[in-house]
Amino acid sequence: MDAELGASLRGERLGLEESFLAGPQLHALQGHVQAVPISLEINLEQDRFYSEFIWKGSFEVDVWRSRGPQREPACWTLLGYASGYATQLLGREVQYREVSCRACGDDNCRIIGKLAEEWPDHAAFAELLREAPLIDELYELQARIATLESDLARTRDQETWG
Ligand SMILES: [Zn+2]
Repeated sequence: MDAELGASLRGERLGLEESFLAGPQLHALQGHVQAVPISLEINLEQDRFYSEFIWKGSFEVDVWRSRGPQREPACWTLLGYASGYATQLLGREVQYREVSCRACGDDNCRIIGKLAEEWPDHAAFAELLREAPLIDELYELQARIATLESDLARTRDQETWG
């Protein structure tokens, strides 16, 4: 939805780069993270996309730091947002990687975004960002339990009154 808003800003007054930057601004307004642009180059006609941001005030760093220093960058949901936003807005699969993270003791959280095919391990990475099928299964089981509970309640009512 944020990407649709970003796309709608594009027109006579805003170029592609400026409308792209609506995403990081929306992310900040939502209170998730402040994204400071370091580099942004978009030229889809020449299959070129490169972007780099510093993240300040990541809520995920606060969550993970309480568990001690992390071995791998921790800002996964923020990364999912950045990848999803860019992919939706540009109509090309974009993947962001967090190349340094304060949760690991680095000075700052820094992300780099490129067209997916430019990352050598893009297929394996895309798998990590996919919605977990387990969640769907959980919702399905929850719905079945609710149905069984109401069936059981109805049966008890019939036994009591019938
Ligand atoms: Zn981080």
